[in-house]
Amino acid sequence: MISNISDMLDYFGVAVDFDEFTHDFIRVYKVDPATDKVRAFELYTQGEAFEEQLIKLFPADAAKLRRFFDYSQAMFDEIYGLKYAPGARDILEMLLNCPKVVRNRNKTFSEYMKMFGINNPDIGLMFQVFSGMCGLPNDRIAALLTVGVMYSLREKACRPRGRFIELPQKMEKRYRELGGQMLFRSEVEKIIVDENGVRGVRLKDGSIIRSWNIISTIDVKLTMENLVGLEILRALNPGYAAKLDSVRMTTSTFTVNLGIDDASILTDHALPCGYGVVTMGDDAYQKLFPSFENNEFKLSTGCFYLGYSCPPPSDREKPVLSLQAVPVPVNNWSRLRNAEPGIYQQEKEKAADMLINIMETYVVPDLRNHITVRDISTPATYVRYSGSPTGSIYDMASVPENFGPHRLPVVTPVKGLLAPKFAHGVFGAMNSGLQAVDILLDGKVMHGNSRFKLTAAKS
Ligand SMILES: Cc1cc2nc3c(=O)[nH]c(=O)nc-3n(C[C@H](O)[C@H](O)[C@H](O)COP(=O)(O)OP(=O)(O)OC[C@H]3O[C@@H](n4cnc5c(N)ncnc54)[C@H](O)[C@@H]3O)c2cc1C
Repeated sequence: MISNISDMLDYFGVAVDFDEFTHDFIRVYKVDPATDKVRAFELYTQGEAFEEQLIKLFPADAAKLRRFFDYSQAMFDEIYGLKYAPGARDILEMLLNCPKVVRNRNKTFSEYMKMFGINNPDIGLMFQVFSGMCGLPNDRIAALLTVGVMYSLREKACRPRGRFIELPQKMEKRYRELGGQMLFRSEVEKIIVDENGVRGVRLKDGSIIRSWNIISTIDVKLTMENLVGLEILRALNPGYAAKLDSVRMTTSTFTVNLGIDDASILTDHALPCGYGVVTMGDDAYQKLFPSFENNEFKLSTGCFYLGYSCPPPSDREKPVLSLQAVPVPVNNWSRLRNAEPGIYQQEKEKAADMLINIMETYVVPDLRNHITVRDISTPATYVRYSGSPTGSIYDMASVPENFGPHRLPVVTPVKGLLAPKFAHGVFGAMNSGLQAVDILLDGKVMHGNSRFKLTAAKS
C-alpha cells in the first residue's frame, strides 16, 4: 500500500494505473489469547470517511477524537511549509508558519495523544498501525511521523493496478530513456574519498567508477561506517560521527508468503485490504520492543504483532497472503544461516508454523489446508538483500532524538556525498530521493521544500 505518488510520477513522466482503497483500507483483529475472542475493526480512507469511521467505532471518545483530527490535519498541512535544510531565515519563517510542528517536534506519539486526553487503549491500537508502518511503538516514535503517515494515507491509499513490480520496471525504463545507466550485482565496497570530498566508488570486483557526487540509499550506518570509514568521518566532523554512533536502526521482520489454492478462503473472511494487523492488544508492539532492542527473538503465541498483506484476488492469477511479524531483531538468524543451515531451516519452519497457527486460530480456520506455496523470509534474508547488518526494513528509527532538527542531515560531512535516508516507504524513498536531486540542482526541483509539489517543481 502506498500513499499518493502521482505528482512525482507525473514529474518523471511515468504512467502507472492505481487502484485506490476505500472501505478496504485497514483491518485490525484484536484477539484475546485467554478466551480466543476476536474483535475486528475496519478503518476507512479517502478524506473525512477516515475520521467519521473512527468516531463511529469509538463514540464515547468523539469529542477528543474531533479535537485530535482538527489539530492533526492542521499540523499535517504545515509540513508543506517545512524546509529540509533550513537556514536562519527559513527557521524564523517556520516558527511563524509551522507552529504546531515546532511545538510537537520533540514529542512521542503517546505524549501527543495525551494532549487530547485520548487514553482508550483500542484507539491507541488503531494509531499503532501507522506507527508500526515506521517500525516503532507509539511511545517511542516521533509524533509527527505517525501523523504524517496517517494523513498521507488518509489523502490517498492505493496500490498499482497490475503487478507491483510494474512500478520499478516503468521507472527503470524511463530512467534508461533519459540516458541513465543501471548496474546490477555490482556491490560497492568502498566510497573513495580524498581531502576534497568523494571521488567515486570501488566495486567488489575491483573496478572503479569516478564521480564528484554520490547519493547512497543503503543503510546509513553501513554507508558512513563501512563504505566511507569512521576514521575519515571523525577527522572531518567528530560531532556527526558521534551522532551516527547514537543512531538506532529499526526492526527487521519475519515474513511468510503463502500461495493459497482458493481465493474464497480469503474473501469469505474479508481479508483482502490495504493492510491488516492481527495482535493481542494495544500494547503488544510496546511489549515486544524491549526484546527487539536486546536482540532477543521473543515472538510467541502469547505475545505477537502480525501485519498482513492480502491483495484483492482479482489483482493476481493466484491468491496470496503475506504474514509479517514485527518488531523482530536479527538475533542469531544470520549466524545460523551461514554456520548451521540445518538448524536454520528447522527454526524458520518452526517460526513460520507459529505465524500460520496464529492466523488459523483467530482469523482463517483451516488456512493450513489451503496453502500450496510457502516462502519464508527471516531477518537473515533482509540482511542479504538490503546489506543492512541489522536487517532493518525501515532504516533509522525515527525517535524524537533522531527526527526533525535532530536527524542526520541529507548532506553528509563528506563533500559530494548525500544520504537521503530518513523517511520510510515508497513515498518517503521517492520524496527524499528528489530532495537529494534538489540539493545537486541548487533547489530547481523542490525549492528546498521538504515535500515535493508538482506545481512548485514546474515553476
Ligand atoms: C517486506 C516489506 C514490505 C514493505 N511494504 C511496503 C508497502 O506496502 N508500502 C511502502 O510504501 N513501503 C513498503 N516497504 C518499505 C519500502 O520497500 C522501502 O521504504 C523502500 O524500498 C526504500 O527504498 P530505498 O531505495 O531507500 O532503499 P532500498 O529499496 O533498500 O534500496 C537500496 C538498494 O541498495 C542495494 N545495496 C545495499 N548495499 C549495497 C552496496 N554495498 N552496493 C550496491 N548496492 C547496495 C540493496 O540491495 C538495495 O537494492 C516495505 C518493506 C519491506 C521490507
